[in-house]
Amino acid sequence: MNKELHEMKYLAEKVADLKAKGLYRTLPVNQGACEPVLQLADREVINLCSNNYLSLANDARLKEAAIKAIERYGVGAGAVRTIVGNQSIHEELEKALAEFKKVERCFIYQSGYDCNIGTIQAICDKEDLLISDQLNHASIIDGMRMVKATKQVYAHSNMEELEALLQAAQGKYHNIFIFTDGVFSMDGDLANLPKIVELAEKYGAFTYVDDAHGSGTMGSHGRGTVDHFNLHGRVDFVVGTLSKAIGVKGGYVACKEVSYQWLSHRARPVLFSTTLSPADTAAAKKAIEILTEDDSLQKQLWDNSRYIKEKLTALGFNTGHSETPITPVIIGDEAKTMRFSKALLERGVFVSAIVFPTVPAGTGRVRVMVQAKHTKEQLDKAVAIFAAVAKEMGIIS
Ligand SMILES: *Cc1c(COP(=O)(O)O)cnc(C)c1O
Repeated sequence: MNKELHEMKYLAEKVADLKAKGLYRTLPVNQGACEPVLQLADREVINLCSNNYLSLANDARLKEAAIKAIERYGVGAGAVRTIVGNQSIHEELEKALAEFKKVERCFIYQSGYDCNIGTIQAICDKEDLLISDQLNHASIIDGMRMVKATKQVYAHSNMEELEALLQAAQGKYHNIFIFTDGVFSMDGDLANLPKIVELAEKYGAFTYVDDAHGSGTMGSHGRGTVDHFNLHGRVDFVVGTLSKAIGVKGGYVACKEVSYQWLSHRARPVLFSTTLSPADTAAAKKAIEILTEDDSLQKQLWDNSRYIKEKLTALGFNTGHSETPITPVIIGDEAKTMRFSKALLERGVFVSAIVFPTVPAGTGRVRVMVQAKHTKEQLDKAVAIFAAVAKEMGIIS
């Protein structure tokens, strides 16, 4: 064995490069559950950076459902679904999701990421055209990479460009698919789904909406952006995640029965990887039951997000054009954005800094995401810290 070779020099060089550019980081460690206030190793911080919108990740009702499921079904499914890993709890979750989303079927995956990877490669082929919004999530992009099809990208939410691509594609491809996020996670804006659906219907294209951030936050009782725009039955594939507002882990695609039948034969993450654990599955099912019965958590989430958005805007921060509980606070310069988020953390507010290449250069921002269970006192305290740090840094006057 060549000892020197296995020192992994080529990776050491890449890591050193990250460090030289100031991009190296270590992972923060949360000592407990994903609550509105987190216990990090050295301090308590107000948590403004989780996707746990409805505060369900540590909800007593979900935990009880998970514990009961462990007692009945065990801790692991024991095999892929196509062999013997398909337990009755998995079927029950799919049924509950389909009723909630008002669709024929929902097909579950181990994550939203797996769902995009598995679904896109199963439903698309090399004679197809795949059209994608420029700001689509990485998992859509990765899913598209798995297909040897023609791919085209339109500028973010530019419907004229989308129409031009559809026009030019007429008669040239077997199938045309339009892929879009429902809620764009960096700005919190919505896709123009009514227009996308109209264009898809006019030009004979299929529509595929990844509604990870819309699941549980948008629409009646959190049914998502398709419900928000009242487009039931007009989007061919709607992806949701169980890992954000639902508070657990997993993903699903809402679709027609025949699409479900095909996916259950060809979705590779389901064919070749063990399915969701019984505890995850039961907890997610419980969350869907709670959302169906009661929209008070969704109302609290929106109340909190409007509250903090108003306070931050009044202070003079640029909060962009968000239409959802995602509130970007745009700082601009990348290094300044990083310093701002670091100073906030030191004073007790945890937000994520998002900079180029995740967002365009010069539009660095911290992203504020509240939960249903944040108290107004916690939000006031966070806003006061934002104001103090930003004044010191000359971001606001
Ligand atoms: C978070 C996210 C995913 C991934 O979901 P997971 O369940 O965490 O794997 C997929 N798509 C979009 C748009 C997302 O925001």
